[in-house]
Amino acid sequence: MLPEGLPSEPMTEVDTGAVRRALQEHRDDAVARRAQLMAKPERGSGISFGKRVGDGTIEAVSRLSEVGVVDSLNLSIERVERALAKLDEGSYGCCDVCGESIPPARLAARPESVVCVKHALAPRPRR
Ligand SMILES: [Zn+2]
Repeated sequence: MLPEGLPSEPMTEVDTGAVRRALQEHRDDAVARRAQLMAKPERGSGISFGKRVGDGTIEAVSRLSEVGVVDSLNLSIERVERALAKLDEGSYGCCDVCGESIPPARLAARPESVVCVKHALAPRPRR
């Protein structure tokens, strides 16, 4: 969580350099945690390395009670990647659904926001 209001930055101007760093950190953190969860060495299960990689991965994941955590990590990585892409496109700060600008306070609190408040609250059309 970022503190309210970035130091010495006017709220109308997004410091994309700082946002990018924060997003990348957030993503790296999530990717590392996901890798940890998915590569749990304990429980001595007999995963066969002779299997195709995809099968082994799915098996390893479904075995875990943390699968919900992995899901939400995947989601947050996806969101952060999208926010980074928007930085590159120059559309950062605009809602992905309606194109309205996202309130700076919201971006400050959640830099990975890619939709406005209204669309963040609305259920996604598809899952
Ligand atoms: Zn919107």
